[in-house]
Amino acid sequence: MLPNELSYILNELGEDRENYFNAIAPPIIQTSNFAFKTVEDLRKVFENEMSDYVYTRGINPTTDILRKKLAALDGAEDALIFNSGASAIYAAVLANVSSGDHIISVDKPYTWARKMFDNTLTRFDVTTTYIDGRNINNFDDALQLNTRVIYLESPNSWDFVLQDLEAVAAFAKKHNIVTIIDNSFCTPLYQRPIEMGIDLSLQSATKYIGGHSDVVAGVLTGKHDMLRKIFDGELLAMGNGISPFNAWLLLRGLRTLPMRLEKISATTTQMIEFLKTRTEFEEIIFPLDPEFPQYDLAKKQMSGACGLVTAVFKPIAFKQIVKFVESLRHILIAVSWGGYESLVIPSCASMSESEYDQSNREHRMVRFYFGLEEASYLQQDINKALEKIRS
Ligand SMILES: *Cc1c(COP(=O)(O)O)cnc(C)c1O
Repeated sequence: MLPNELSYILNELGEDRENYFNAIAPPIIQTSNFAFKTVEDLRKVFENEMSDYVYTRGINPTTDILRKKLAALDGAEDALIFNSGASAIYAAVLANVSSGDHIISVDKPYTWARKMFDNTLTRFDVTTTYIDGRNINNFDDALQLNTRVIYLESPNSWDFVLQDLEAVAAFAKKHNIVTIIDNSFCTPLYQRPIEMGIDLSLQSATKYIGGHSDVVAGVLTGKHDMLRKIFDGELLAMGNGISPFNAWLLLRGLRTLPMRLEKISATTTQMIEFLKTRTEFEEIIFPLDPEFPQYDLAKKQMSGACGLVTAVFKPIAFKQIVKFVESLRHILIAVSWGGYESLVIPSCASMSESEYDQSNREHRMVRFYFGLEEASYLQQDINKALEKIRS
């Protein structure tokens, strides 16, 4: 995307200032419903709730400004905004499967996507095969006559494994399969899956788009016809659209998205250089690091990678990892990412000490999110916490 186009999208697209007192900031139209002069007007609107305002569970003027901007950022025909990233995942998948269908998913999708595949969809006879998405042949091997959906997440948010998006899209088109990607890691600023042939691209807008750790939301983009089906079905029926106020928070976040991602990326580069000098770690994982196994693919399909970095401790006791993480004073222990505050989460948080296996590299991972603080402030924090576990 050209820089001028980006500025136009963020500043003007979808905004109709003359209609609201020439206010610079978009209005929060906090209403549940809209009035009509005639029964005929109401009847017409019932035919197309996706483009006319009738009830805020569907669309609303504030939500619609955001919708236009997010579609344009993704280079997509249209967008739907949900009250969480998880809702966007649910709607996208559910809309494209029927009882007896089959899904091919990457082997480590986002936790709640996996729970949907394993716990909910199985009740409706929809089965899922998990594959290592790094090898395109694995998609072919998993293919069944009833495969309807390929579910991707590239990179994932722990070890940043990628799929070759153009290759998967081409394979899926040949077999008439819908492709869905979770693009939360990159945002459309750093990876444009729709342009690579993926049908539906989704993000947790809670992360970088919101950008201030104060709103939970999701966005799904793709062709208008596909989204229309989801709007009429999953969105209106499940009632999982976004509220006007939360949409407004995302509009506010969007204004600074490009500069926040630039700053976070610059800090992350400094943090990676620093982490590599610390002998406590055996590996620093980051998709745009030349040592990353899929570096060439990452460079080909991503133009940036932002703030998530995973550090793998050399073999170390469970208690030492816990002590390190708890000794951090500025970097907070928390899930999620994308806000001002840097965060940390150790993989051993999802297991008990007896389940912890020092010889398992995945158990020794600590995932950092580097936010908008200065790198030196974060480095000092990590240095001090590492000193604590040396003594
Ligand atoms: C957070 C997250 C989600 C879910 O989004 P919510 O907004 O929390 O519902 C989905 N995928 C990834 C990769 C995430 O990090």
